[in-house]
Amino acid sequence: MINPSSELAELLQGYRRFRESGWSPERERWATLREGQDPRVMVIACSDSRVDPAQIFDVRPGEIFVVRNVAALVPPFETNPGHHGVSAALEFAIQVLKVREVLVMGHGMCGGCKAALTRELHGTEPGEGGFIADWIAMLDEAREPIAEEFGTAGRPAERAMEQAAVKVSLANLRSFPCVREKERDGELTLRGAFFAISDGVLHLLDEESGAFVPA
Ligand SMILES: [Zn+2]
Repeated sequence: MINPSSELAELLQGYRRFRESGWSPERERWATLREGQDPRVMVIACSDSRVDPAQIFDVRPGEIFVVRNVAALVPPFETNPGHHGVSAALEFAIQVLKVREVLVMGHGMCGGCKAALTRELHGTEPGEGGFIADWIAMLDEAREPIAEEFGTAGRPAERAMEQAAVKVSLANLRSFPCVREKERDGELTLRGAFFAISDGVLHLLDEESGAFVPA
């Protein structure tokens, strides 16, 4: 017999609400989705519990294909051995689902970006912070000018790092030949976004000016 922890019990309560008010009224939709999914947008977001894309964009099941990880990062196109989770999801979204848009959404108060800025986990062992340190080392280059201009602490520095991370992910997306081709052919749009947790305002990146403007 399963003896739920208080954490699981809370999840199960939510699940029952979902069965009541979320699943039943959409039964028809779920029946269609059983045949397959056809999302038009892929969203890359942070694992942070405060920035759930489905909630922020108020979408129904089947509408967005989502990857979430520490700091909403896309690694560059790499073919070295290893397990490339983001690349696999990206490949599936672009080549199989043929999404029309990939949206990278950074956010305010991002712990991953903060750690990239302070480098506090630098040199730690895998399992002790080393995996995070290695992952966010992707931001090292972008960090330099920010640390120079704003230092490595305080919201102006952190916000600059959070927004720079979105640009790093967009640049890395464009290091994938299939992404480049589809963008060139007008079959795919790449978009940068930033969700400010404090006021709940979504900002969109204007790639020409480099500024994030409220949506
Ligand atoms: Zn985050």
